[in-house]
Amino acid sequence: MASDRTPHSFPTFENAEDERRHRKQRLAAAFRLFGQFGFDEGVAGHITARDPERLDHFWVNPLGMNFKQIRVRDRILVNHEGEVVDGNWPVNRAAFVIHSQVHAARPDVIAAAHAHSVYGKTWSSLRRPLDPLTQDACAFYGDHAVFDNFTGVVLDLEEGKRIAHALGDNKAAILANHGLLTVGQSVDEAAWWFITMERTCQAQLLAEAAGTPVLIDAEQAELTAAQVGHRSSGWYSFQPLYDWITAQQPDLLED
Ligand SMILES: [Zn+2]
Repeated sequence: MASDRTPHSFPTFENAEDERRHRKQRLAAAFRLFGQFGFDEGVAGHITARDPERLDHFWVNPLGMNFKQIRVRDRILVNHEGEVVDGNWPVNRAAFVIHSQVHAARPDVIAAAHAHSVYGKTWSSLRRPLDPLTQDACAFYGDHAVFDNFTGVVLDLEEGKRIAHALGDNKAAILANHGLLTVGQSVDEAAWWFITMERTCQAQLLAEAAGTPVLIDAEQAELTAAQVGHRSSGWYSFQPLYDWITAQQPDLLED
């Protein structure tokens, strides 16, 4: 019997209002997934989505609201000066400082994700890029940076600029002694890169604890990077997670 579900295809929008609603839905779902995977640590962590009309504004999670309880209607909109212009909860200063500078430096970036997940922050203390140890790790081959200048909680815009500069054209950065940062041309893509990068850190930590892993050679790593590391692969990989979390927790879509 044929499935009553339709395959996923990249969305297009008639107007900015529809596109905004879509981004907010994806954001709420991404937070629920981050919560489900245990990426939250107190009030740390943020995912942002650029507004489709006001391009220097972004939607973000309210400071202090549990990832596992965020709904579409809870999103706050922050302007380029760090003021909340839609919503009545405060914004995390570090979220504004890091994400505003990343969004400003990278016009192609629609969404950015950062959290203090355990394997990401553990790996970040080594201040090394990830190696191509697995097929999945190749998504980051030649496409992530290490920002090795830890100076405490990021509260200064200049520090945000340095992080954006270190990120460069890459899809991800390892913030030393802090955690992971990923970006994408959709919320789906940024969230997926974060999820798979966290697991890639876990895999390398496990492999190095167990022995001396053998790297995928450069030619194969490059080929695989073009396959699993393409932005359409990032977007597509998020779709089954979105379907699952919205089926499990439909209240996340309350607007
Ligand atoms: Zn942080």
